[in-house]
Amino acid sequence: MKEIAMIERKAFYIGGAWVPPIDGGVTEVRNPATDEIVGLSPSGTVADVDAAVAAARAAFPAWAATPATERIAILDRVRDGLRARNDEIADLISDEMGAPRAFSRGAHVKMAVSNFDFAARAMEELLSEGEEAIGPTLVVRDPVGVVGAITPWNFPLHQISAKVAPALAAGCTVVLKPSEVAPLSAYVLADLFAEAGLPGGVFNLVGGPGRVVGERIVTHPDVDMVSFTGSTQAGRRIAELAAQGLKKVALELGGKSANIVLEDADLSVAIPAALKQCYANTGQACAALSRLLVPRSMLAEVERLAAEAAATWTVGYQTDPSAKLGPVASPDQQKSVLGFIESGIAEGARLITGGPTPPIDTGAFVSATVFSDVSPDMTIAREEIFGPVLSIMPYDTVDEAVEIANSVPYGLSGGVWSADRDRAVALARRLRTGQVVINGEPLNLRAPFGGYGQSGLGREYGRYGLEEFFEIKSLQGAV
Ligand code: NAD
Repeated sequence: MKEIAMIERKAFYIGGAWVPPIDGGVTEVRNPATDEIVGLSPSGTVADVDAAVAAARAAFPAWAATPATERIAILDRVRDGLRARNDEIADLISDEMGAPRAFSRGAHVKMAVSNFDFAARAMEELLSEGEEAIGPTLVVRDPVGVVGAITPWNFPLHQISAKVAPALAAGCTVVLKPSEVAPLSAYVLADLFAEAGLPGGVFNLVGGPGRVVGERIVTHPDVDMVSFTGSTQAGRRIAELAAQGLKKVALELGGKSANIVLEDADLSVAIPAALKQCYANTGQACAALSRLLVPRSMLAEVERLAAEAAATWTVGYQTDPSAKLGPVASPDQQKSVLGFIESGIAEGARLITGGPTPPIDTGAFVSATVFSDVSPDMTIAREEIFGPVLSIMPYDTVDEAVEIANSVPYGLSGGVWSADRDRAVALARRLRTGQVVINGEPLNLRAPFGGYGQSGLGREYGRYGLEEFFEIKSLQGAV
């Protein structure tokens, strides 16, 4: 792994300037494959958040009053800057959170490019529609105000951009706290905002622990809205804290999504694709389809195809071009995923391939793992694992499949495989979840994304994501 250079960022981006943390805190960013330090980033306290919120508050009136076309032009410059530096930023993300570089270069930064583009295009669409009149009333949109954005490590730049781009397009100002596990790409984004001519204070970046920096953002009286992506546990705590100030909250949380294969599906296509829908990003995707529901009569064939496909999910270092699974994001994450695999074995699920022995003994590696005969009450069928672990669950009737799919408290994603698209759509309508992927359709970053139940509140991406950052005002008698 000699190709990795150490990145050192020493200051937060506050009010358009690089400002060192008040008490000099530092976070070490480690490569999960080797445990070597790949970066240092500043770690803040309450006082750093207060400075960032003051800058965002001061910048808000002028930014909200800036013509939307000017805001859009800045977002487009940032989009172009991200696109131009795709491989460099992607490698940085791989080094800190473990995704193979080939995957990171193909997905992580490109998704952020799309988020900037689609937020800008959604704002243009809104402008072109004009304001709505309801009888004598004109309905207008005001930007919410100062947005606190708090993000996780699994798709670090994508998740940042899914909040920051629409918030800025709408005329809000932002204080961002990225994940302390994978903060480095956020600092490159701040560089790009500065280069793009974003006025000082519109975007502010403060790093540090969730319990200190994150909670101060959530409780600060001058933050009007909190947009959070992360675990359901932290989301619950954030919702509780935000409720004290009756703040608007958008929460993108965890999932335990079901992928239903109908008996008319072509298994030779569906099963390898279903493994990809579970294993992409080393299984660390909130929308991972980690439960594979198949007709009981097809179980043996599905297991054979799943074992065959799992063998192609080679584990390796991020820089290895043949690696499809990198290390998971940290030693803690590895411990957690291996613990789930052990619970699957202890609770009687049948291990088809993989298992609790790390395939490379230095670093946070986990083998592509498939369980079968998983029943709905098992831990691995109910809890988000966030690693490359697939649970195959047999069903006898389609009604039973729907019942199993809807039996978890989450509702973020889902999948259906069928030779008959109308049949697949009819089944998809019965799933209590924010999105359903029919026959492996690629993710559409202009369509709404978000959760039912304990998977969250609100929607991100495209027009629906933009709408979250407005207050709606009725001007009675304006028409
Ligand atoms: P996490 O909840 O531990 O942390 C996410 C962020 O919240 C980090 O920046 C962290 O510092 C901060 N944080 C933690 N506790 C906080 C608190 N009390 N107050 C304020 N901030 C706090 O999650 P993670 O381990 O970084 O990410 C993995 C989780 O994220 C998984 O559960 C996954 O499903 C979820 N996720 C959801 C989506 C989605 O769109 N629904 C997308 C990606 C990840």
